[in-house]
Amino acid sequence: MMSVSIIEYYAEHERYKCGYCKKPDTSYSHGIWAHTMTVSDYQDLIDRGWRRSGKYCYKPTLDVTCCPSYTIRCKALDFKLTKSQKKILKRINKFLSGEAEQDKDERRMSTSQSYEQIENLGEQFVAPKQDPQMINIKLVRTTPPSGEWLASAKQTHELYVKYQMKVHGDTPDKCTEPKFKEFLVHSPLLEEHSEVGPPSGYGSFHQQYWLDGKILYAFKSRNIWSIKEEHSEVGPPSGYGSFHQQYWLDGKMLAVGVIDILPKCVSSVYFFYDPDYMHLNLGTYGALREIAFTRNLHTLCPELKYYYLGFYIHSCCKMRYKGNFHPSDLLCPETFKWFPIEYCLPKLNSSPYSRLDNDIDSVDENYPKQGDINFIPIHYKGSVLLYKVYKKKVSKSRRNSEELDEYLRLVGSKTAKNLVLVR
Ligand SMILES: [Zn+2]
Repeated sequence: MMSVSIIEYYAEHERYKCGYCKKPDTSYSHGIWAHTMTVSDYQDLIDRGWRRSGKYCYKPTLDVTCCPSYTIRCKALDFKLTKSQKKILKRINKFLSGEAEQDKDERRMSTSQSYEQIENLGEQFVAPKQDPQMINIKLVRTTPPSGEWLASAKQTHELYVKYQMKVHGDTPDKCTEPKFKEFLVHSPLLEEHSEVGPPSGYGSFHQQYWLDGKILYAFKSRNIWSIKEEHSEVGPPSGYGSFHQQYWLDGKMLAVGVIDILPKCVSSVYFFYDPDYMHLNLGTYGALREIAFTRNLHTLCPELKYYYLGFYIHSCCKMRYKGNFHPSDLLCPETFKWFPIEYCLPKLNSSPYSRLDNDIDSVDENYPKQGDINFIPIHYKGSVLLYKVYKKKVSKSRRNSEELDEYLRLVGSKTAKNLVLVR
């Protein structure tokens, strides 16, 4: 019952239409298809510039692509609201307390949990004057599909269609249910809980793969359970993995945040809302609630401290808003270390692609070393064998080894030894 990441690598890559500058063939990235992925492997990948869309994981090639996208994380524990974020919260409070609404009839409820949580953000924040209505946030596991998710799937898809058509000008054929699910429901992330230990107990193991009575490969002390060791006995009550956060008001679904709960962060995948409430800036509101959620989870999981907003694209003004959640860091595309955004912006102003790490001696600690390729686990015809064995038994084509060298650089040597690559 060991959880393992099983992936396929797409060696051939094309230039795609860029979603930001709209040029037809200037976007450049590498991709893997993840059948399954442990949350700790995915954490390592996003800390190397990867991101997922459904089960497809991709890493933009920052020095080649037209609009370089830097992984951005907000330090949720030190978060400070800006003036405009406070304004947005005030507007929502006003709306909820009925001041800004014509139909004031049923806007009477007990003090909203949402204010408490946002006050938790550690800033003095003007509380609503009257008893506000409450926006209830419901955390629903989407992979594997929970009963709560299945019960609200149709409604969620309808909200998504409304949002995509109104806000992004999509045509209905672009937001069909299968496409929606592929993008925002399917996930390779394995459901992992902290409370329940592995049947074998914690510790270091050899996992042996046998074929014809011969051990082909033994995983040495895999760190699959390391989350449990690092994270004390108590993890997030929901467990780790992929979820929707549904925002409900008066039995109406207002918005949905698609998130991953990972060992070190809450990672935002997407956010969509009812365009009838466009004036409320629900996108920003959602990010603030997700920061508050991250802080709450931190009280249970001390390692979980960050809120990942995905990619920060400096060359695209529309995408700069992701830099408005302070304090935040950008990931250096060469050394994969984090730097405060204020420190990076002058570099990005002078060149869209920039190494963010100023220290010329600083290196990528997971840059592959000679021979690392031999330790890539390969899934071949129902068995898992190390590349060095696979090479002897199955194929030593040059193409294969060049492809794997590239793959190794992209995922890094640590992760390459964890992910089982299907050939
Ligand atoms: Zn572009």
